[in-house]
Amino acid sequence: MQLVGIAKAAHNAPLLEAKRQVSYSHLATGKWINRVEGSRHSFEWSINPYRGCEMACQYCYARYTHEFMELREPEDFETRIFAKVWNASEFRRELAKVPMSQAIAIGTATDPYQHAERRYELTRRILEVFATVSGRKLWITTKSDLPMRDLELLQQVAKRHVLYVNFTVTTLDAQLARGLEPRAPRPDLRLAAVASLAAAGIRCGVIASPILPGINDDEIDLHALAQQAKASGAQWFGGGVLFLKSPTKEVFLSYLEREHPQLHRKYQATYETGARPSREYHQKIEALFERVRLGVGLSRKATPYLPPDWERGNQLSLAL
Ligand code: SF4
Repeated sequence: MQLVGIAKAAHNAPLLEAKRQVSYSHLATGKWINRVEGSRHSFEWSINPYRGCEMACQYCYARYTHEFMELREPEDFETRIFAKVWNASEFRRELAKVPMSQAIAIGTATDPYQHAERRYELTRRILEVFATVSGRKLWITTKSDLPMRDLELLQQVAKRHVLYVNFTVTTLDAQLARGLEPRAPRPDLRLAAVASLAAAGIRCGVIASPILPGINDDEIDLHALAQQAKASGAQWFGGGVLFLKSPTKEVFLSYLEREHPQLHRKYQATYETGARPSREYHQKIEALFERVRLGVGLSRKATPYLPPDWERGNQLSLAL
């Protein structure tokens, strides 16, 4: 058949980008709740229902975790996603061993509300378990607006546990975000999710991490982001500097080459001898966040609260 008109044009159109093939696999695991080493976190345990993350952030520090499975191609982390096989009784058994005084973070090495969650609903199943017990301190960190799906469930959890939800928003610039975080929901959608959760009484904060020199560290831009976070109902605002080591370093430097070639050499020099920028830059960014928070009226940290259905007799440590 001879193609004509729009059919011919479509047939001959040059391919701009082929749809990436993302594979999802089930991963049998004996471990749902893992001990977090080191003291720089506000939680002692982590839950990651998935391995790999389709959001594909160029700066994602967790890319190295796929190497544990001998998956070493740079794109494996974002294209080969593993969903753990749900086992409610095993989850409950592990939870029972976590001391009540210690905090649990959901989503540390992968986003618990990444696209796979629409299909497998593992984060939802975990929350359903938490909705039947009480007295925990929980953190959720995400870059998605999918928590809105679980609004009522999150409300139930927040009545029984201290629950804080961090939304990561690195910029208000949708185009910049598309390049940096190719398959994460747009920044305005994330802020809309903050607004929905906050209106439902769930404590939310906005984290502008990582701060990238010359890309999203402009004070005026950060101020505008903090203002929108506040207007959405966020209670705290913070962020940290970029941590960059292999294999993320190669992925991020190649992103810079494509999108910000003028910065490529600068980043190479900054991260040549270590995974973090200089102490001076670090202090400069801390001071910048402090000014922005003061200007907008947001806290640095979540404020402690006592949930209405907190378990009697369970001591609540308000320290964060
Ligand atoms: S959303 Fe988080 S875990 Fe997922 S790719 Fe981005 S930084 Fe990594």
